[in-house]
Amino acid sequence: MRQDILLQILEKIKQYHRIVLFRHIRNDGDCVGATKGLKGILQASFPEKEIYIADEDTPSEYLRFLGPDEDHVTDQMCEDALAIVLDTAGTDRISSKKFQLCKEIIKIDHHIDIAPYGTISWVEPEKASACEMVVDFYAAFKDQLKLTPEAARCLYTGMVTDTGRFRYSEVTGDTMRAAGILLDQGIDTQTLFANLYLDEFEALKFKAALYERMQISENGVAYLFVDREIQEKFHLTIEKASNCVSVMDSIRGSLCWLAFIETDENIRVRLRSRFMHINSLAEQYHGGGHACASGATVYSWDEARELVSKADQMMKQYKESNEGWL
Ligand code: AMP
Repeated sequence: MRQDILLQILEKIKQYHRIVLFRHIRNDGDCVGATKGLKGILQASFPEKEIYIADEDTPSEYLRFLGPDEDHVTDQMCEDALAIVLDTAGTDRISSKKFQLCKEIIKIDHHIDIAPYGTISWVEPEKASACEMVVDFYAAFKDQLKLTPEAARCLYTGMVTDTGRFRYSEVTGDTMRAAGILLDQGIDTQTLFANLYLDEFEALKFKAALYERMQISENGVAYLFVDREIQEKFHLTIEKASNCVSVMDSIRGSLCWLAFIETDENIRVRLRSRFMHINSLAEQYHGGGHACASGATVYSWDEARELVSKADQMMKQYKESNEGWL
C-alpha cells in the first residue's frame, strides 16, 4: 500500500517536465529542508526537468544558512506543472497560492490529516518529519534517484529541527537510519549546529527577561505573554519573539507550555507538550498541528487566558488519570 503510493508519486514525477514544490507559511527547518532536499534530488536525478520552489512568505532568518530559493515561479509556469506540497496539513497554509494553477497536486506530509487534498496523498502522521519522508522516498528508489551532499544537508537540517535534535517520541530506528543515509553524504555538522544554536547577545538578554515573565497555572501550564512592549524593548522581529516557546520546555511537572505572541493582527499561540496531547486544544482556536506541537490564534488577552485555563484543566485530568509523567 505504502510502496504503491511511493511508486505512484515517482510515476507522476516522471510524467511531468516541470515540477513546482510548495511549503507552508511561516516556514521552518522541516518544510524548507524538505523542499530544498527534494528539489536537489529531482534535479540530480532528472537533469532535463525543470524543478522549482514557490514560496511567497518571508524567509525565516535562522534558516538563511540553507541559502535563498532563487526561483521566480510565474502563473503561466504552473499551468502544465505538477505541484508537490510538502509538510503542509491544509491548503490554507500553503505559502504560495499558485499551487491552485498546477495541473495535479501531490501531498507529502507528516501532520494529522484533518484537511486532505491532492490527486495523490502520502500522509504519515507517525513520521517525525517531512524530511524523513523525502529520505524514505529516495531510499525506496535509490537505483533511480540521486542524492547530493547539498540536498542531504538541507534534509538533515529539517530532521534535526523537527525532532528537537532527535529527542521527540516520533523518532524511531527508521528515523536514525534515514539520518544515517544523509550523514553518509558528508555533512559538516559542526557548522550546521553552530548555525542553529548561536545567538546574538541581545537575544540572550531577551531570554533572561522571558524567564522573569514566565508564569505557571495551578496545575502546571507554563505560559508567556509576549506583547508589543517587550518586543519593542528588545527590537525583536515576530520570528525572534516567537522562538520564546522553547524557554519553557524543561520545567519539571509542566507537561504543557504556551507562548502568546502579539502581532499586528492577532495573537499567535504556540503550544507545546510532552506526554499529554494538545492538538485538540489548538483546533478549538483556529489551529492544529501535531499531538505535542501545535499552533493556534487568539484575538484578545482574555481569550489567551481562557486558553490557558482550558490547558490547565486538560493537564489536571491528564495527571489524575496517568502515571509516569515528568
Ligand atoms: P508553530 O508553533 O506555529 O511552529 O506550530 C507547530 C506545529 O503546528 C507546526 O508543525 C505547524 O505546521 C502546525 N500548525 C501551526 N498552526 C497551525 C494551524 N493553524 N493549523 C494546522 N497546523 C498548524
